[in-house]
Amino acid sequence: MFDLRQLVLSFISYVLLQHEEGNYPQAVFQHITPVNKSVAIVGAGSAGLAALKNLVGLPDELRNGWEIVLYEQRRDVGGIWLPDPQPVHPPDLPETPLYPLLHTNTPVPTMTYPGFPFSPGTPLYPSHEYVEQYHQDYASHFNLMPYIMLNHTVLSSSWIGTPDKGRWEVTVQDHNGREIHKSFDHVVVANGHNHEPHIPIYAGQEDWLRSGIEGGRTREILHSIFYRKPERYANQTVVVVGSGASGRDAASQLALHARKVYHSVRSLSDPASGPVEIKPEISHFTSDGVVFTDGSTALDVDYVILGTGYELRVPFLERGGEVLVTPKSSEPVDYALTTNLRYLFPLHQHIFSLSNSYPTNALAFIGLPILVANCPSDAAQSIYAAHIIANGSLLDSREELLQELEASEDNLRSRGYDPYYIGHRMVDGSTFDYQDGLIDYLKARGALPDDGTSFVEGWRREAGRYQYLKRGWKRVEELGQQREWLRGVETEAEWADMMTRLDRWQGGWEMQHGLVFPEERIIF
Ligand SMILES: Cc1cc2nc3c(=O)[nH]c(=O)nc-3n(C[C@H](O)[C@H](O)[C@H](O)COP(=O)(O)OP(=O)(O)OC[C@H]3O[C@@H](n4cnc5c(N)ncnc54)[C@H](O)[C@@H]3O)c2cc1C
Repeated sequence: MFDLRQLVLSFISYVLLQHEEGNYPQAVFQHITPVNKSVAIVGAGSAGLAALKNLVGLPDELRNGWEIVLYEQRRDVGGIWLPDPQPVHPPDLPETPLYPLLHTNTPVPTMTYPGFPFSPGTPLYPSHEYVEQYHQDYASHFNLMPYIMLNHTVLSSSWIGTPDKGRWEVTVQDHNGREIHKSFDHVVVANGHNHEPHIPIYAGQEDWLRSGIEGGRTREILHSIFYRKPERYANQTVVVVGSGASGRDAASQLALHARKVYHSVRSLSDPASGPVEIKPEISHFTSDGVVFTDGSTALDVDYVILGTGYELRVPFLERGGEVLVTPKSSEPVDYALTTNLRYLFPLHQHIFSLSNSYPTNALAFIGLPILVANCPSDAAQSIYAAHIIANGSLLDSREELLQELEASEDNLRSRGYDPYYIGHRMVDGSTFDYQDGLIDYLKARGALPDDGTSFVEGWRREAGRYQYLKRGWKRVEELGQQREWLRGVETEAEWADMMTRLDRWQGGWEMQHGLVFPEERIIF
């Protein structure tokens, strides 16, 4: 399997290692020990594309002879941003939770892969089509398509071997429904975490549904993954549960069409905008109503839409016997990789599985962090994963990594968080330090040159502190001034400057008019 070039490089590396190791910067050593490897990536959303770009982009001498394949089950790249070709048919899960009126809830310059801004003229909070196009542009700009097998679904993946050596046996279904079996040294999982709905069951809901049918009424309880057009709910009474992005969006959109919208939220600071009645959590259902925890009841309800989030599942690894599903569990079982549906553990840096069945760089996850602008986070994780896949010795021993994980979980507990409940949420705005930490680690170990810059750009950190952008952009749209604001905005620096100006413009205006709003939270 080794070609001549690789043999020569291996020989040079052997000679160097035999001699003055201390005289060579570590980076030199890490760049001259090529090994044939095969890597499978699962998923071509934001996370999978970042993983692919950074694996393919490793220095030639490092990944010479590697086989890299990305399997994507859908017709194109883009993950959740690629619309479903079919109308939804509950309970069959749709391909994406995307709904036609979806706009980003984060300003686009902050959602980018570093160095790859959205195309000029993109609105600051654009509709989903722009984000879909952005992913396609990224894939073609970095020439990623030749590595991507579209319409290929990974059905299962199992490790055959020992904790030190072995391979992944991966079963893939191709576009003709045929099963393909292939071996890989490494698997990178980027399957997304907005696909397996978390559906709470309330006492009395069956009775409520049944008496609706008996009374000749349409009553439905459905998860927001099935939500599409608000017109479907015209003149209906709807309870929307949840104050995450999906719940807020659905409630705000429905308010313009439905007869009545109740928005049931945990915290009163996060309701939807528009004419909605805020309610606390649902307590239970009776045969004719929805009862909330404050004892109030909503009667004549036709639909309950559950914006109750998603479960963290990895079906193809579960099928392969590599991930245990133990809801609510907060302890690993014999260090097997486990999901309690919110948290996948034990993982090193939310990326590498520390299961004791295989080497610590054999199975990586990209895109697990939540409460982050995902593309920059995916990029940092992918650079880290790519270098560690290339050179597993960059990681400490499994025991040390487990101790480090325990210490970071203890640290979260000491700050009042249950790590097994918050899962991969980057609390207290820790996302930027986390990204810098990953890249700094590689620099400290000589895998990347240290040019004295930080991975997270100053403007990105600064933008995280802006308070007025969303309302500012809304006012720009109302005034019809989008063109003026977007004129000449192309580079990252120009996008950053535009956000700074907009934040000041809106902040000044609000102050001048004595307007006070609750602190603007970016909800991902
Ligand atoms: C409604 C909604 C709105 C959002 N809005 C924002 C926003 O405004 N800003 C923001 O920063 N984030 C937002 N997010 C978060 C969003 O999830 C991320 O931005 C990001 O797109 C997730 O990318 P991903 O690659 O991790 O997952 P996904 O986009 O889900 O991609 C995963 C891919 O893996 C594929 N796949 C899964 N299993 C297999 C398999 N077995 N075989 C082959 N392929 C497989 C899927 O088909 C999919 O293409 C939003 C999320 C939702 C649900």
